Amino acid sequence: MSHAPRLEIDLDKIYHNAHTLVHHLKHCGISVTGVTKATLGSPDIAKVLLRAGVSALGDSRIENIECICRANIDAEMILIRTPMISQVENVVNFANLSFNTEIQVIRQLSIQAQKVDRIHKVLLMVELGDLREGILPEDLVEIARQTACLPNIILEGIGTNLACRSGVAPDVTNMTRLTELAIDIEAATKQPLNMVSGGNSANLTWAFSGADIGRVYNLRLGESILLGRETLHRKPIINLHTDAITLVAEVIESKLKPTKPHGEIAQSAFAAKRTAKNRGTTRQAILAIGIQDVDPQGLKSNDGVSICGASSDHLMIESSNDNLAIGNELSFRPNYAALLRMMTSPFLEKRLLQQS
Ligand SMILES: *Cc1c(COP(=O)(O)O)cnc(C)c1O
Repeated sequence: MSHAPRLEIDLDKIYHNAHTLVHHLKHCGISVTGVTKATLGSPDIAKVLLRAGVSALGDSRIENIECICRANIDAEMILIRTPMISQVENVVNFANLSFNTEIQVIRQLSIQAQKVDRIHKVLLMVELGDLREGILPEDLVEIARQTACLPNIILEGIGTNLACRSGVAPDVTNMTRLTELAIDIEAATKQPLNMVSGGNSANLTWAFSGADIGRVYNLRLGESILLGRETLHRKPIINLHTDAITLVAEVIESKLKPTKPHGEIAQSAFAAKRTAKNRGTTRQAILAIGIQDVDPQGLKSNDGVSICGASSDHLMIESSNDNLAIGNELSFRPNYAALLRMMTSPFLEKRLLQQS
């Protein structure tokens, strides 16, 4: 018997997606950092990304980076979230480079790097409108100057991250601003910056638009590689697979049931009070997976069923088809939020499929 629920992860399709993006971006003069955070730092997926030609691996959690390092994978490892001061020891141990926004943290990285006689590279993140992480542009040159002076620290470059918190689109204006800031820093520190990293999968539209990329020679890609979509409008990217990752879950109950609850209605376990329409009796089933394992709103059925409710451990579906027998498996395609949570759930088997 197959284990359910499970994620089926097609490594050949992920390879194809990564290789295609690396190849196209190389033509634009842009290198790709492969972002592994949605895979919980899977060493197998990391290897696929490296084989496909990414120049480095990036993850926001030092635990994931440690996991990849311990699998003896030899790659440039980048921590793409500003480190916790409480973790600087592991950051210097396992990451070659970290993204930073606080000089206080960079000073601690310097102290730790001196202690263990290592060099740690730092990239400064700049706030260019999205209001997630970032040093304000007017403070950047001064912090760059201070960073460049710290022992055992190399100021490797600058970067920005858009379209994450607020959906601000990367465009010619904000990317040109990043290039200008890089030039300002080089003038102030009299040292070249090796890396100007323009953003994430949301930057692909800009990168492929034919716009002058200026000094932005690197992007960090996660979702577009794994799910085959750009992230501003979630449109499929031409020639990429959008079905590399599939959720399979098992039916544990299947009945004709009313659509309207009866009794006095108050709050439920996960939602505010609401009223259900009476649509008569429908064929309803329960799948053995729940909010603990997945974001139900991020699932699309491959079998034409619709999701009508969820609790911690139950996913309620409706179907006009007859495919809801007990023990049947149904499959779904996850969005990024659903994928992220499923990879983190110990209850899902992660089944890696690979032909080549
Ligand atoms: C998650 C993340 C990325 C990758 O974003 P995708 O949308 O998955 O391509 C890039 N940079 C930073 C700083 C991130 O946190």
